[in-house]
Amino acid sequence: MIEVTNLSKRYGNHLAVSDVSFTVKDGEILGFLGPNGAGKSTIMNILTGYLSPTVGTVKIDGFDILESPNDAKKRIGYLPELPPLYLDMTVKEYLYFIYDLKKVNLPKVPHITEICRLVKIEEVYDRLIKNLSKGYRQRVGIAQALIGNPDVLILDEPTVGLDPKQIIEIRNLINHLGKTHTVILSSHILSEIQAVCERMIIINKGKLIADDTAENLSKDFSEDHSLTARIAGPSKDVLKLLSSIKGVATVSYLGSREKDTNDFNIDPIESADVRRDVFERLAERNWPLLELKTNELSLEQIFLRLTDASDKDEDFDINNFKSFKEAKR
Ligand code: ADP
Ligand code: MG
Repeated sequence: MIEVTNLSKRYGNHLAVSDVSFTVKDGEILGFLGPNGAGKSTIMNILTGYLSPTVGTVKIDGFDILESPNDAKKRIGYLPELPPLYLDMTVKEYLYFIYDLKKVNLPKVPHITEICRLVKIEEVYDRLIKNLSKGYRQRVGIAQALIGNPDVLILDEPTVGLDPKQIIEIRNLINHLGKTHTVILSSHILSEIQAVCERMIIINKGKLIADDTAENLSKDFSEDHSLTARIAGPSKDVLKLLSSIKGVATVSYLGSREKDTNDFNIDPIESADVRRDVFERLAERNWPLLELKTNELSLEQIFLRLTDASDKDEDFDINNFKSFKEAKR
């Protein structure tokens, strides 16, 4: 289990991580989601003992990363944002080198062979790292993290810079490793996290602003729905009519996607149900309503809303989010 308590990191005057706390259970796959510069790599560097926090503690299986670094680090395999590869070594030389560096006690050849099989790099075993594709280099990076059989894998943006096919391969590999490891994975791309992680932590400007499953996050926001309508009527007049309906906050024109029709987005004011009025008012003008659907917020939109809220409000953090959720129940 990983326990992170009140972590803060200051670079000079800049507070890169601000009072972050969370726990990760054994076997969990946790996603760290946040825009560039949010503080993901800084937190990961602290978790793995590469950076010391300004304030706060990290415990891996009860071992404090600063007080018992050897016991804590032994349990962690780390793939940093820029994998520490030696380009003039072959894959074999490199993995042997890391094995010695980590002072691993497992039988050398079978252990390394097993890892190579797992991450599928046997076919490039004797090649120089500098001649490998980015996808293979990333696999070699994951292989070095696996040396010593750590229970915990910390992977910083493991799919960045890969092509779509390589992304899927690495994603499958992480899913596979997740069956036998605790994994923390960071990304600035929601779909990456969503594809692999059960639970996600959203970080913005060094603050933790959400910590939940994708399913719960969607549920928490599900009442905020707007409507999309397809109407056979003149765009400007329909827009004016829709805007005048009681309970409608804003209407925006989305364009024409079908001949002689126009699409609109209708945002009701809090919890107002405007569907009947929309139907009746359009019928009065003889502008047929061809489609009306409720827009569930996508996780992408939820992510944007949360990061926007925290960009606008300096004090926004996980506690505001928690009270927001409780208010809804
Ligand atoms: P992320 O990984 O989410 O993109 P980082 O943890 O790399 O974010 O960076 C968080 C913030 O800390 C950024 O504003 C970045 O510019 C700053 N930062 C990161 N490393 C350093 C450093 N060594 N010195 C000064 N500022 C840093
Ligand atoms: Mg980073």
